[in-house]
This record gives sequence, C-alpha cells and structure tokens, in this order.
Amino acid sequence: MRTWKWILTASLLITLNAMAQQIADQSSSNAAASQPATTSAPTAQPAATQSANQAAASAAAPTTMDQVVDRTIVREHALMDMLKTRTPLVETYLQNLKSDPKLGPVPSEDHYFLGRLDLGESIDRRDYLSRDESFEKNLLGGVSKLFKFEYKPMGFSWMIFADREDFDRGHYSFKYVRREFLGDVRCLVFDVTPKKDAGKGRFLGRIWVEDQDYNIVRLNGTYAPRPKNAMYFHMDSWRLNLIPGYWVPAFIYSEEGDFSYGAKDKMAFKAQSRIWGYDLKKGGKEDELTSLRVDSVKDETPSTTDASPLEAQRQWQQQAEDNVVERLQESGLVAPDGEVDKVLQTVVNNLIVTNNIDLPRPVRTRVMITSPLETFSVGNTIVVSRGLIDVLPDEASLAMVLSHELAHIVLGHNLGSKFAFNDRMLFSDESTYSNFGFRHNPDEETAADTKAIELLKNSPYTQKLDVPSLFLKELSDRAPSLSALLTAHLGNSFTNEKGQLVRLSALEAMGPALDPSKLDQIAALPMGGRVKLNAWNDRVELTKSAPVAITSARDKMPFEVTPFFPRLSRLNSDANTGNTTSASNTTPSN
Ligand SMILES: [Zn+2]
Repeated sequence: MRTWKWILTASLLITLNAMAQQIADQSSSNAAASQPATTSAPTAQPAATQSANQAAASAAAPTTMDQVVDRTIVREHALMDMLKTRTPLVETYLQNLKSDPKLGPVPSEDHYFLGRLDLGESIDRRDYLSRDESFEKNLLGGVSKLFKFEYKPMGFSWMIFADREDFDRGHYSFKYVRREFLGDVRCLVFDVTPKKDAGKGRFLGRIWVEDQDYNIVRLNGTYAPRPKNAMYFHMDSWRLNLIPGYWVPAFIYSEEGDFSYGAKDKMAFKAQSRIWGYDLKKGGKEDELTSLRVDSVKDETPSTTDASPLEAQRQWQQQAEDNVVERLQESGLVAPDGEVDKVLQTVVNNLIVTNNIDLPRPVRTRVMITSPLETFSVGNTIVVSRGLIDVLPDEASLAMVLSHELAHIVLGHNLGSKFAFNDRMLFSDESTYSNFGFRHNPDEETAADTKAIELLKNSPYTQKLDVPSLFLKELSDRAPSLSALLTAHLGNSFTNEKGQLVRLSALEAMGPALDPSKLDQIAALPMGGRVKLNAWNDRVELTKSAPVAITSARDKMPFEVTPFFPRLSRLNSDANTGNTTSASNTTPSN
C-alpha cells in the first residue's frame, strides 16, 4: 500500500518535470519574440507601453475595474523585475498526514527542504542540505525524489508569482468579485482563470489586490489544466509590504488530501514554505567598503597591560564566537540581534542570577531562523531555532531549553575555537551546514543535562517544571513521525537515530502524565505561533496574537503545520508595529 503510493507519486513527479521543461522551452521561444503569441487580444500591453503606464501610474487613479486589472499586471511585472537581483532563502516544512480516530488528521512523517533561490531571468535554486548525499537520503527516508518537483525552478516560481512568464490579459480572464479587508488593508478581489488556449500550467484561482498601488497581496488557487496522471499542489501565497511600493512573497501554505468518508484521495499533506533573506548580499562582501561600520571599533576599553595566557585564550574564543555568529547571519541562517534576544536574555539572566553563576564574559543569545527544533552554543552565545521557540508552551519551557546550553557554557564545554581562523569562514552560504557543526559528545550531553536540572531547581522556574516535563513527553510521543523536524543541523538533536528522546530525559520522567484529551494541558504549540520573521531584513520579533480558546483535543495540534493568516498592514501605517524599516523613520508620523 505504502510502496504503491510512493510509486504513484514518483510517476506524477516525472510527468510534471517533463511538463515544466516543456513550458520553459515554450516561454523562452516566446521571449525571443518579445511578446506572447496571443497579443492580438486588444487589452494585451506591449512591453514598451508598460513602463509608460508605470510612470503614469501615480498620476491617475484607475476609475474602472479594467484599469485596476491593467495596473495590477504592471505592478506584478515590476515586482518580478525588482526581485531579479535577489537570492532569498526558501524553506519548506511538510507533514504527511494520516487519520487518527481521536485527533483527526495527524502527521505520519515529515520532510524538510532549505535552499537559496536566484530570482534572475532563469530562476535557480541551490540547496543547503544537498551537499551530503547520504544525509539527504536519510532525511527523506530514501524517497528523495518525492516533492522535489515543487522546487523545479519553474514550479517554484509559479508558487510565488501567479505566472512568471505570461501574466497578462492575453492569457487570463479577470473577474471582479468584491472588496474585502485582509488585516488593515482594503483589497479588491478578482477571480483569475486562464483563457481557453493559454497553455498548460496556468494559474487558476483568486487574487487579492491592495487598493492604493494595486499590488497583489495574496494568491490562492492552483495551476491548470491538470495533466493526465499528475497534479499541481494547491497553494495560498501571502505577500508583505516590507519595502516602499512592493509587497514581497513571504509565506506559502499548501495542503492536499481529503479525509471524508469514501474519499479516494490517498496523498495527504500540509506544508509551510517561508521565504526570507531578500536583503542578503548575493556574493558576500562586494560592498564591504561602503558599509564600513564605525561602531565596531573597540577602542573604548584601552588596555594598558598585555594579555595573560588566560586572557589570550578568552579573546581567542571570543573571536571564534564572533566569527561564527557573523557568518551565520550572512548565510541567512541567524537573525540580526533584536527584540526576541532580549526575551531569551532575560530568561538566561534569571538562571544565572539565582544560581550565582560568575562568568568572565556575558552570555548572549541569538535566533536561528529555521524550523527544525534545535539549540547549540558557540563560545558564550546560545542559539535557539525559531521553530523551537514557536512550539514552546511557556517561559519555564524556554528556561528548560536554555538551561541545557547554559550548562555547557558553565561546564566549559567550549566548541568552535577553530573558527577563530578566518579561512574557516570562507565558504559558500549553501555549504554552511557542512562547514559548521557544534555537536557535543554523549558524555558532555549527559553532564549538561544533569547540570541543567540543577540550574532549573535553583531558579524561579523550579515550581513550574510540570509544563516543560509535559513538553518533553509530547515530543517523545510525536518523535517517530517528526524525524525531519527533530533533525538538528548544527547542534545536538533532541532525539537519537531511533527517535527516542535523549535531551533532559530525567525531566521528562517527572511531573504529571500526558493526556491529549485534557483541554487545559497544553504541552506543545503548533508551528509558527510565536516568532514573526521579516522576510526582507531577517529581523524577528514576537507575534502579538490574542489567545484563542481551545474547544477540543483537535485544537491543540502540537508541532503541527497550520495555514498562514498574517495580519497585513501597509509599511507606514500607524497600526504597523512589525514591518517598519529604517526608511519609515524618516517619514513624519502623520
Ligand atoms: Zn548539548
């Protein structure tokens, strides 16, 4: 049964790959002719007049829906143009589903992909995880072909744009539906259908267009016509107004599967894709001179004495730590220092103060932007993944996670001093995972766990360890179906190869029993609930969502993927607390 399913899916993929290629060929021949073959349609706009329209755009507001559609098409092409020089990261986390009698559809296994997209003329993708073949095969459970087609350059560009090649009136019909608010943004809603002879793989669905500049802010639908024996995923694609004038693709949710009685649809999954790092430097350091920072000069603390051997050793570790953190930020894997770090820092300080810990250098914290649940430390910097912060149910659980890394620091388990040599920073961003690694040996792990429990017991969190214990139980429970989420890429994983919990298992054994049917027992949260990521500049902050009452065991969804519903707002609007960039500071507040 299982094997049959894989074979079926694999054959779908082959069909789709072939098709994507065909379309790519078609479009390149179209490109040579500089216009789509169907320009005889009276409304199709030649490229030359498009830019003229764009120039006139700010002058005259559209008065008819036809003019709105024309403007939307112009803006969509402007977005593609603007993104041509960008190489964002794209992460997809996918959970295959099975039906559970009590909990409904639950994850049966999962898959993880991380890559860098080049949004130039020919869209290209390089994977962070593909350097180590055996690792990838392991990660994908031997079915590495599955879902790959989603990332065929054409396939993926389809999911962030409606149609990268031919988004125009020649290929599509637009039908106005209504006005609707998405968050703070009033939108015009259109149903978009491919014209009769528009060709294969055209967008079919609905678009939301904001009513000031007429940029698309959301796309929801699939691609059509559906070829024989193959399928396209459904997608719900969201964009955010992160830079003036543009709404950049940030989230894509996909879901397939039907669990209704008698349904024949056997392939069931849900997947979250996140795109970020639009503002990362493409080749690395080409504009180093223009961005020379004065604030990094360290002359404030003039030293009148020479470094003792111990001081030299500490400076060496500091240099390694700084190198690694800076390099991870350049790779788009670690967020810039920010608001979330202050929260993590506060919890670390609570542990440090109540345990009378005296360290020669302060402990710092940073957020790794990726989803897999992992922590590691390099020197005195503790790094926690966004995915892990997302699923932690409370502050005591966060303290639990941080206490293990703090224990490594207190016990002097320093890793990574070899990275004080700068040649070890010179590698391509995509090969970060094969050049960095901060895993401790089992003895150090055990020692850190023992010390961590001691730190927690002396801290204000000692009365609140029931929830962290439940979190570890839930993790143990779900681990067999979440191996991709639990595979750490730089630090130690929570589980071993057999899917058994190895981190803080003594704490897991304490506290109350896990009971999924108890509504007041929240052991772990769904993915994506806590940390908000700015796709343009990689800054992270905590989301400000009001708590929603849980009415059944199915509402808990521990570690599960859910749809995205970001609160849309305009870059400079007052309600916007999250997406402002430095540019907005120069704008008067009213
Ligand atoms: Zn550890």
